[in-house]
Amino acid sequence: FAAAMDLLEYQGKQLFARHGLEVSDGRAVTTVEDAVAAANELGYPVVVKAQVLIGGRGKAGGVKLASTEEEAREHATNILGLDIRGHVVHELWIEKASDIADEYYASILLDRSAKKALLMFSTEGGVDIEEVAEKTPEKLVRHHIDPLVGISADEALQVATQGGVDEDVREGVAGILVKLYEVWTEEDATLTEINPLIVTPDRNVKALDAKVTLDDNALFRHEESKAFTVKGAVDPVEERAKALGLQYVALDGDIGIMGNGAGLAMSTLDVVAQAGGSPANFLDAAGGANAEVIKTGVETILSNPKVKAVLLNIFGGITRCDEVARGVLGAFAEIETDIPFVVRLDGTNDVEGRRILAEANIPNVHPAATMNEAAEKVVALAKERS
Ligand code: GDP
Ligand code: MN
Repeated sequence: FAAAMDLLEYQGKQLFARHGLEVSDGRAVTTVEDAVAAANELGYPVVVKAQVLIGGRGKAGGVKLASTEEEAREHATNILGLDIRGHVVHELWIEKASDIADEYYASILLDRSAKKALLMFSTEGGVDIEEVAEKTPEKLVRHHIDPLVGISADEALQVATQGGVDEDVREGVAGILVKLYEVWTEEDATLTEINPLIVTPDRNVKALDAKVTLDDNALFRHEESKAFTVKGAVDPVEERAKALGLQYVALDGDIGIMGNGAGLAMSTLDVVAQAGGSPANFLDAAGGANAEVIKTGVETILSNPKVKAVLLNIFGGITRCDEVARGVLGAFAEIETDIPFVVRLDGTNDVEGRRILAEANIPNVHPAATMNEAAEKVVALAKERS
C-alpha cells in the first residue's frame, strides 16, 4: 500500500520552479484582503485560482481573470468558500496572467504493469485529456521511460515532434518534458501533470497548471516537501483528530460512526448498513476513550454537515465503560448540538456506564446495550431528521 500525497497547484508549481521549469509568478493567500494586496503587487491582469485538490476548477468558476483591483476583490470574494464538487476553497493562488497562443498537455505517471514511467503528451491541452484519449487517441503520444536510462533531450524532442508541436517551440517543449521527468524522479512523485502547458504569443513555453502526487512513503527523503502535509486543504478538525491518534475516513452517508478499535469501527459500518443506514465516516478512537478523545471524535464527525445522527459504539476492555460514559458527559458539556447520539456501551463496567448516561439524562443521547439495537435506533433517528 503506497500512500499518496496530492499537492495543491501552487505547491506543485513550487516544485516545478525548483527544477527550473517555468511557471508564472504568484502568491498563495487565504483572505480577500491578502488576495487584493497580492494582485496589486503582481500587477494586472492576474488570475485568481481556487486551491483545492480537484480538477476542473475553471469550469466550476474557480479560475477567474481580473484586470482591476475591483475585479480581483470580486473574484477572491466569490471563490473563497466556493464548494467545488465537495471541496471547499480555503486558499487562493493569485498569479500574473499569461497570454495564451496554444494549450498543450503533458504528464508522467507510474505505469504499474509496465513498471515504468509513462510520459503522455498532446497538443490538445486545456481540456479533459480522457476525452482526447477516447475520441482522438492519435493525438495523444505515449512514451515509456526506461528508469535506468531516463529521458534524453533527443527522445523528448521526438515526442514533441510526434505530437505535432510547431517547430519553433519544439526545443522548449522538449526541455519541459525532460524537467517534468526530473521532478518525477527526484521528488519521488507518482504523477506530474501540466494541463495546460502553454505556448505564449511570444513563443515561450510554460506550465499554467500543476498536478503533482508524491509518494509519501518516500517523504523522509524530502525535507522541503514535508511542509506540504501540514499546509493546504487539510481540515483543521481532521488534523487535530489525527494528532490525537484518531483514524478518520470520510464516507458519503449521513450516519456518523465512532468505535474504539479499527475492528469494531469497521463492523459498526456493516451493522449500520445492514440496518438500512448509510455511514458518513469511519472513525477509530483507538484504545483510549477519555473526554478529550471523545470530544475531538465527536467534533470531527459533526464537522461533516451531512451527518444526521451518530453512533458511538464502545466495547469496554482496558478502557472501562464508566470512563467512557464520563468522557461522553465531558464532551457534551462542551459541544452544543441537537444531533441525536446513540451510545452503545458493552464490556467492562457497562452497567455502570449506561447508568451514568441514563442519570445525566441528556435529551439527545440514547444509550443502547447491543450493537443491533444501537444500529436500528441510529438509522431510525437519522430517517426522522431527513
Ligand atoms: P483547472 O480547470 O482546474 O484545470 O484549472 P487550470 O489552472 O488548468 O485553469 C483552467 C483554464 O483557465 C486554463 O485551461 C486556461 O484556459 C485558463 N487560464 C488559467 N490561467 C490563465 C492565464 O493566465 N491566462 C489566460 N488567458 N487563461 C488562463
Ligand atoms: Mn488544468
